[in-house]
Amino acid sequence: MSYEIERRVALAAVREASRLCRAVQAEISPEVLAKKDKSPVTVADYGSQALIGRILAEAFPGDPLVAEEDAAELRLAGNEAIRDGVIRQVRAIHPEADVESILRAIDHGTAESRADRFWTLDPIDGTKGFLRKEQYAVALALLVDGRVAVAALACPNLPLRADATDPTGTVFLAVRGEGAFAVPLDDPAAPEVRIQVSDTDDSSRARFCESVESGHSAHGDSERIAQRLAITAEPVRMDSQAKYGVVARGQAELYLRLPTRADYREKIWDHAAGTLVIEEAGGTVTDIDGHPLDFSQGRELRGNRGIVASNGRLHAAALAAIAALGL
Ligand code: AMP
Ligand code: MG
Repeated sequence: MSYEIERRVALAAVREASRLCRAVQAEISPEVLAKKDKSPVTVADYGSQALIGRILAEAFPGDPLVAEEDAAELRLAGNEAIRDGVIRQVRAIHPEADVESILRAIDHGTAESRADRFWTLDPIDGTKGFLRKEQYAVALALLVDGRVAVAALACPNLPLRADATDPTGTVFLAVRGEGAFAVPLDDPAAPEVRIQVSDTDDSSRARFCESVESGHSAHGDSERIAQRLAITAEPVRMDSQAKYGVVARGQAELYLRLPTRADYREKIWDHAAGTLVIEEAGGTVTDIDGHPLDFSQGRELRGNRGIVASNGRLHAAALAAIAALGL
């Protein structure tokens, strides 16, 4: 198997980061929520990046990591409470870690993207979902020559089985050319189960997912597209790249992410891991114009607008509906 070490390290890294995220989430009280206090997600964001940055720096010292956060803010006076929170959470997992090494591990993620080989990380994707105690993800991917080669997508609040309600947590794993798999987040000894997209080719029976946040994907436009496709099911609204996992395992046929602003460019870490998981499960991912996602343009998908991810069979119909609306 190619990328065997990368796959194993990536899986261990998102598992460890998920432990920290869960520990932080468990401490979110109704009072914190009522105050709209975002500090828990900030602590978990930096903590997750610190753990993964440290693991990648050790395993692959030559690989750049392009991640969402850097520690500059954390070093500033006035941010002691957040910094102490991050350090406390990282030390709950690595008691020996010192402050400087934790900040350095976060800054490991400030590399520039490179053509040949780099990692990209969203330490917590779906921050709003994290605060609501709903869906969020830790999304890590290895890019080689502009294409996603390895993906590890941990969804700590997504049940392993589509029909289950248990909050076991799921990790989606993929290596290009070798299929997509789901594994339980908490049981490293459990077998990996191959996943596949659904084989539905009747658009009227399709289920589609989209962001909870109408600022991230235009709900009005998706409603018009659903009408064109004669979709009757209500949209499944979910935060984070968990949407990619849901399509990859056949629980929905479409994931639509329709621009809300002409000037917004999608971030590579919001889509790299999810894209490979869907493609390796037999599905298709493009932008809304039908172009493949171009991960070689830096931190953003500069040449793309929006996202359409599907089980493959319904992709052309979805793109045609979008084109007909002139989006
Ligand atoms: P989701 O959970 O699918 O709604 O996506 C969360 C991600 O949306 C965050 O990680 C942000 O990077 C990204 N985001 C922020 N603003 C926008 C926007 N205007 N359009 C699309 N995505 C956005
Ligand atoms: Mg994100």
